[in-house]
Amino acid sequence: MAATTSGAGGIMQLGVREIRAGLAAKEFSACEVAAAALDAIAARDGEVHAYLQVTEDAARAAAERVDAAVARGALDELGPLAGVPVAFKDNMNQQGTRTTCASRMLEGYVSPYTATCVQRAIDAGGIPLGKLNMDEFAFGSSTETSAFGPTRNPWDLSRVPGGSSGGSAAAVAAGMACVTLGSDTGGSIRQPASFCGVVGVKPSYGVVSRYGVVAFGSSLDQVGPFARSVEDAAWALAAICGHDARDCTSQPVGADFLAAARAGAQGAEGLRVGVVRSFMEAAGLSAEVRRKVEEAASRLEDAGARIVEVELPHAKAAISAYYVLGPCEAFSNLARFDSVRYGLADPGHKDLSGQYEASRAAGFGIEAKRRILLGSYLLSSGVYDAYYYPAQQVRTLITRDYVQAFEECDVILSPASPRTAFSFGEIEDPAQMYLSDIFTVPINIAGNGGMSVPCGLGDESGLPVGVQIVAPQFKDENLFRAAAALEACYGPAPVAPAFADGKAGE
Ligand code: GLN
Repeated sequence: MAATTSGAGGIMQLGVREIRAGLAAKEFSACEVAAAALDAIAARDGEVHAYLQVTEDAARAAAERVDAAVARGALDELGPLAGVPVAFKDNMNQQGTRTTCASRMLEGYVSPYTATCVQRAIDAGGIPLGKLNMDEFAFGSSTETSAFGPTRNPWDLSRVPGGSSGGSAAAVAAGMACVTLGSDTGGSIRQPASFCGVVGVKPSYGVVSRYGVVAFGSSLDQVGPFARSVEDAAWALAAICGHDARDCTSQPVGADFLAAARAGAQGAEGLRVGVVRSFMEAAGLSAEVRRKVEEAASRLEDAGARIVEVELPHAKAAISAYYVLGPCEAFSNLARFDSVRYGLADPGHKDLSGQYEASRAAGFGIEAKRRILLGSYLLSSGVYDAYYYPAQQVRTLITRDYVQAFEECDVILSPASPRTAFSFGEIEDPAQMYLSDIFTVPINIAGNGGMSVPCGLGDESGLPVGVQIVAPQFKDENLFRAAAALEACYGPAPVAPAFADGKAGE
């Protein structure tokens, strides 16, 4: 085995292309990759708690399939993720695994089928390592609402990894997976990616099938990858994207994300980068994040991009609209957890409605209950006209804002999160927590793709900062072009220092 890849730490620092090259050169086998990944999880996850379940048998079986193909000289027949350690947010069904959404409600639920995104990642040759922690039913920005205990940020274990896909971000940041999948309804891929210093992509709505992903807000949810490099994220998105007959909102995808990333790595010549002044002046934006985003813009300018000022006049209403639309859709989607069709059953009540009430009271945590109550109220007669209907009108206005802004630019640059990772328990007021999403929510409302790319550490906190890139709807290749140009300035994301080189977080 080559010196650079010795030990769990070595293999677990490799990217998609390096793993493929190592397999082709017979430097290591896929079974060795799987073993290194499982060792890394065993050594590190006690501290991080990114995984809710480790699927050791599935990992070894997938690795053996890859090794058999390599032995036949058929590596080229394997998909883009051949031998790549992958893992999935626990709201994604994978047959035979528990899919809990980090909720007591689904504690004993074993998936009878597999989500399209998961199936495609496995069909592409990925080694499935397990299921990742999250905020309960994806409600939250810190992974603190998981019923099974929070995930810790690999950069500072006293801080949150962000959320709701906190496990997906932390697993990649701590070198416990090469690629993971998360879901993003209002920021749940981009915000944890920024907190954990990794790349996180929320594609345009419809790029990835939602079939088999437990729904939160069906018109807002989108699946996307986390990785330590832009190129790895491009491989992963290429593997999982495209039309799926089982999700009528999914679309065929013709774009070549990898080619766009390679073009971006050469520079940003001719790229028009929009900056939104009102975002940069937003109350609550920390000075260190603002400085980092300004620096990222000027680095892109140095790489040949042209910076233009654009306006999104209705984006200030995005949080208000989102916290109407999101809870309304969540309330409807969570109705299926009624103790009969799905979910925890608390039997022994004199009638079914007694069982229903007791089961939902015991199964759902506080934030899930808050969203259900909110959605139920907002959709009640009389109230509907005052909130839900105007929120849909705001949605149209915000969508138009983006269409107009993109007449002037190819991507929009902004902070991903107003601040770096906060400490456990630091944000107790739910309304304050909701403000974590001010920069991410607008594109879930409009349907555009967005990405968080690491741009170094904040000069006050010393913690990772992510810059958000947003592209026109279905022009997700623009994300990869701009992100790769930025990555050429900042370098790919490292494994968090405490977990680099096979350390176990000491
Ligand atoms: N933090 C947001 C919320 O709690 C977004 C969550 C998500 O994208 N799943 O609704």
